[in-house]
This record gives sequence, C-alpha cells and structure tokens, in this order.
Amino acid sequence: MTTLVTGGAGYIGSHAVYALLDRGSPVVVLDNLSTGIRAQVGEVAAFVQGDVADRALLKRTILDYGVNAVIHFAGSIVVPESVADPIGYYENNVSKSRELIAACLETGVKRFIFSSTAAVYAEDAVQPLEEGARKVPISPYARSKLMTEWMLEDVSRVHDFRYHILRYFNVAGADPKGRTGQSHPVATHLMKRAAMVALGRLPHLDIFGTDYPTPDGTGVRDYIHVSDLAAAHLLALDALEAGAPSTVYNCGYGRGFSVREVAKGVERVIGHALPVREGPRRLGDPPVLISDPSRIKMALGWKPRYDDIDTIIRSAIDWERRFNA
Ligand code: UDP
Repeated sequence: MTTLVTGGAGYIGSHAVYALLDRGSPVVVLDNLSTGIRAQVGEVAAFVQGDVADRALLKRTILDYGVNAVIHFAGSIVVPESVADPIGYYENNVSKSRELIAACLETGVKRFIFSSTAAVYAEDAVQPLEEGARKVPISPYARSKLMTEWMLEDVSRVHDFRYHILRYFNVAGADPKGRTGQSHPVATHLMKRAAMVALGRLPHLDIFGTDYPTPDGTGVRDYIHVSDLAAAHLLALDALEAGAPSTVYNCGYGRGFSVREVAKGVERVIGHALPVREGPRRLGDPPVLISDPSRIKMALGWKPRYDDIDTIIRSAIDWERRFNA
C-alpha cells in the first residue's frame, strides 16, 4: 500500500511526502531532479531518480514497491517559460502524464491525484471561482494542465480508475518543522521574492501593476499555505481509497490579499519597512484569483490550519533564512 509521489523532490511534492511519512504511510518518490532537489526529501523516503516518460521504469517502480496510488506533481510550472517553449510544456506536462496514466492502467493502479491550477479558469469568470466556472486557459502551461485533466476524465470513463484533481491557487510558505520549503533558485513568485527582500537578498520588491481594478490597484491572490495543501492531498487520497468518485477540487482559502497587503504583512513580520518599486503589469497576470473552497471542505472535511497571512509570510521567511544559511 505505497503511494508513488512524482516530483516528490520539488516544493509542493516534498511537503506531501513529509505529510505521508508523518502519518506512517509508505512512499516512493520518483523525480528526475531537473528542478527538484534530492536533499529536500532527505533519506526518509524511498527515492528513484528517473523520468515520468520512462514507462518501463514506472512499471518496475510500481511493482517493486507495491504502489497502489499515485500523486502526480512532476511537471513544468513557469507560465512565461511555457509561452516561449510550448512543445516542451506539452511534452513535460501532457505526454509524460499520458505515460504515467498508461503505466497505472497496465499495472492496475486505480487511484490518482493530479496537481492542476487555478490558471485553467477564464479571466472573466465569476469570483470566487467554483470548480464549474468557465475554463479558458491562456498559457501553454494552463492548457497543458487542462488537457491532462481531460485525459484523466476520459480514462476514468472506460477503466476501473478514479482520480481527484486539485486546482491550486497561490501556494506559499514552508513546512512548519523546517524540513523543506521553496528552494528553486529562480524566484518569480511574490512570496518567495518578498522573503528574499525581507532578508536583504534582493534590493526591493517589484509591484507588478498598480492600475488593476482592485481596491488598492494591485493584483489580488488567494494564498494557501503549502502544508494545508499537502493535507488536502492526503484527504483526497483517503477519499479515493474509501471509494469516492472522481472529482475536481479547488485548493485555496476563499479570500484574497493584494500585493500591497502582502508587502504590509512582510513589514509587520520583520518589524521594519520593505523597499518596494512600483512598475507596470506583468504580461498575462489577471487582476484577481480567489477560490471557492466549499466543495473540498464539504466533501473531504478539509480544515485549513495555517489560514493566516502573517503565518504564511513568517514561514516563507524562516525557510528562506534556513535555505540560504
Ligand atoms: N507579483 C508582484 N511582484 C513580484 C511577483 C509577483 O507584484 O515580484 C504579483 C503578480 O503580478 C500577481 C501576484 O503578485 O498579482 C502573485 O504572483 P505570483 O507570481 O506569486 O503567482 P501567480 O499568481 O502569477 O501564479
């Protein structure tokens, strides 16, 4: 009864690995270490270095470790990179997911959790976003995620195979026990950059756009602590084991913070002013993204533990300090 975690050496994947291990669930991590970091999951979990495209390796791993469920994190996640390299993104996120799903079908793995994104929703869809809201993904990244969602839907219609798709909103923060966190050296996400500025590792925080139709003119996002997101994966896994039907779930807290509010939060946490620089909008950034998490709360009994912006910011800064020490 082992769970295969693809991308388990990455940011969110490693948090899920620790969450599984903390409750005594056996895990095997598969990661090609293209962006993941081996040390992120330490020596605690079984580790296979390899690619999701390698169907023979996947089947061997599934059979060797007695895998009965998969949590599929592995994939490429940088929106502008996907615009520049669509083929690379469809390869990594769609073709490789297809191999993994095929390996599951060939080895009898019937449960699958998939990492999707709030970026699949239409920019003009009603906020907070329900799972049924209109989908109009605009980047190759978001399209590749929706394509894989469709693949799972189609497969589960004709095979004894069930999935839970989790659509992530803005994931931030780090493991409260300090074992893992956002470690990628290229920082594009607000919370990571804010933590770097807080520690003096970047000269200032860029505010991308101050003319959005939001209360203070800056972009609003639904920031969810990565440990609450990891917990959602475990609940989704347990629900599948208990026979729950295939479903899509939003993962967010259902409230938004603007870039300025995040910057203020950082100032509260560090106790002094944060240097910011106002600039133009970043291409492709929607004004607001807020989830309606009612479904996951009702169906899976998901109860966030870290729904507090200062807690999220503090854990991001703590990790940033430790990571670079
Ligand atoms: N943002 C910003 N400065 C940064 C990084 C991000 O103002 O250095 C803004 C961005 O425009 C968006 C929000 O912060 O409104 C969250 O961006 P992030 O890249 O963290 O996540 P995204 O929502 O793009 O997935």
